[in-house]
Amino acid sequence: MGKVLVLNASYEPLNITSWRRAVVLLIKGKAEQLEHNGRFLYADVPLPTVIRLRYYVRVPYKEIPLTRRNVLERDRHTCQYCRAKNEQLTLDHVIPRSRGGGDTWENLVAACVRCNVKKGSRTPKEANMSLLTQPRRPHSSLHFEIVKYTQGNHNQEWKKYVIGI
Ligand SMILES: [Zn+2]
Repeated sequence: MGKVLVLNASYEPLNITSWRRAVVLLIKGKAEQLEHNGRFLYADVPLPTVIRLRYYVRVPYKEIPLTRRNVLERDRHTCQYCRAKNEQLTLDHVIPRSRGGGDTWENLVAACVRCNVKKGSRTPKEANMSLLTQPRRPHSSLHFEIVKYTQGNHNQEWKKYVIGI
């Protein structure tokens, strides 16, 4: 019994909730079911995995702070050069600081110690090391959560409602 992705009336992802809370919203008529996982709670009540609110909730924009932890989280704790996971990771400046590269979401990536040392003060092109993904500013902390819950084969039906995962 898993988590449920809640969409705003506008179909934008709003939050992640428990299946119990989702079922309550459905029963009260506050939300509609968009996806279920084929398992049934009762004979005629399939377990929801994606629901959509019938009313619009205004969400204030919250910027994600640029921190080491958040960069590693964005990069899924994976070296962006050699794809090593669960290693001791460092932050690499894609354009080295000595060459004018700044501390920005677009210029910082997770890199294992080996790759960071190998790359040194060169650009990826000079070092002939390509990036796994182009670093970008993450959409929101909800986006992080969604990435986490859709790892492996989990909650695949969420993906069609979320841009960029
Ligand atoms: Zn590496």
